[in-house]
Amino acid sequence: MIAEIICVGTELLMGQILNTNAQFMAEKLAPLGVDLYRQQVVGDNPQRLTEAVLTALDRSDVVLFSGGLGPTEDDLTKETVAAALGLDLVLYPEEWDRIVGYFQGRGRAPAPNNRKQAMFPATHCTILPNPRGTAPGCLMEKDGKAAILMPGPPRELRPMFTDYVMPYLEQRSGHRLYTHMLRIFGKGESDVEYELKDLFDGQTNPTLATYCETGEVKLRITAQAKTDEEGEALLSPIVAEVEHRFGDVVYSENDEELAAVCHRLLIEQGATLSCAESCTGGLLSSAFIDMGGSSAYFIEGDVTYANEAKMGSLGVKRSTLDRFTAVSRECAEEMAAGMRQKAGTDYALATTGYAGPDGEQVGLVYVALASRDGVQVKELHLTGERSRIRRLAVLHALDLLRRKLCAK
Ligand code: ATP
Repeated sequence: MIAEIICVGTELLMGQILNTNAQFMAEKLAPLGVDLYRQQVVGDNPQRLTEAVLTALDRSDVVLFSGGLGPTEDDLTKETVAAALGLDLVLYPEEWDRIVGYFQGRGRAPAPNNRKQAMFPATHCTILPNPRGTAPGCLMEKDGKAAILMPGPPRELRPMFTDYVMPYLEQRSGHRLYTHMLRIFGKGESDVEYELKDLFDGQTNPTLATYCETGEVKLRITAQAKTDEEGEALLSPIVAEVEHRFGDVVYSENDEELAAVCHRLLIEQGATLSCAESCTGGLLSSAFIDMGGSSAYFIEGDVTYANEAKMGSLGVKRSTLDRFTAVSRECAEEMAAGMRQKAGTDYALATTGYAGPDGEQVGLVYVALASRDGVQVKELHLTGERSRIRRLAVLHALDLLRRKLCAK
């Protein structure tokens, strides 16, 4: 099966934005058994777009489009592709109702132009839902050719591609993809790639790819196979090898976030938790409370920012603050122990640190975990701006708890 990508937009053509959609889609095609021979970028010009569409439909089986689905007059992708396939557009009332609902949900009314986004070919067309925007995507199939139209904004295109287009391509090519997404905390992306270099270089099936998130690395291992058993048989030795090399810095095989792992383990173990936060200012408590069902274990979260609050709420000693300051191993230890005692929980986490931007010791953070075995404290030297330091402090606190719960 031969595919081609057409990205539409004058901004894209003129280099004002980077074509990340093409990259996102292109790298996913080979493992799906789809050959990508060409990509095109076309501005918002009806004639040149028509030429691009006709050429692509002539030489490829599947043409993937990004952009030009908006409500304005220069958004022409759908009209042009439909015309090239000899299909007329009609209003889909249920799509129009959905667009009206989308705007109403934001306290607004759609403009008359938005009706254009509810127009699709009456036949040969499957709508691809877009919960993150107004423009649905669509799949037009005719005479063995498929045109797949997706919106330009990456936050809309990516889930549409993953949720609808990939399964379609999988089914059409007869290849199925099996994936494990390993999550790694405590090792940088370049170390992960370096230490797995032999696996990256030597493998065509499964393939490995890393993705960086704040403080974490995700490692996607993807196998192409015909059955579940064959897929798992290809994936599991690689997963086992990565876990063998990296040990417990691998904290999930299935893309579960750190907070979700802690959440699950706390519930499974019937344990309770409280948090005493200084520099993270509630982010840590929020990481738990964001998840439905956290009332099963989350008892109390205190933001104790000032020294008085650390003393008054958590029983941190004045002498500790005078001697070691609020950003110290000793203070973190007393915060965690004091919180655990006050809330009567099995575990208490504490954070204290300098998130910056001013000061000499920006990035020095202590995270602590109190349990019935005593208090563990970790000293961190984090880098980046304030929001990143606070986010990383949360992840380190979560990781401390995750390791303790896994050791049970
Ligand atoms: P909208 O309804 O937002 O107008 P659209 O489908 O018409 O969606 P465009 O107008 O072409 O999409 O692009 C909207 C925005 O999406 C662009 O301003 C740009 O920020 C982003 N975008 C478009 N195409 C790409 C691309 N290929 N790669 C990365 N970003 C893109």
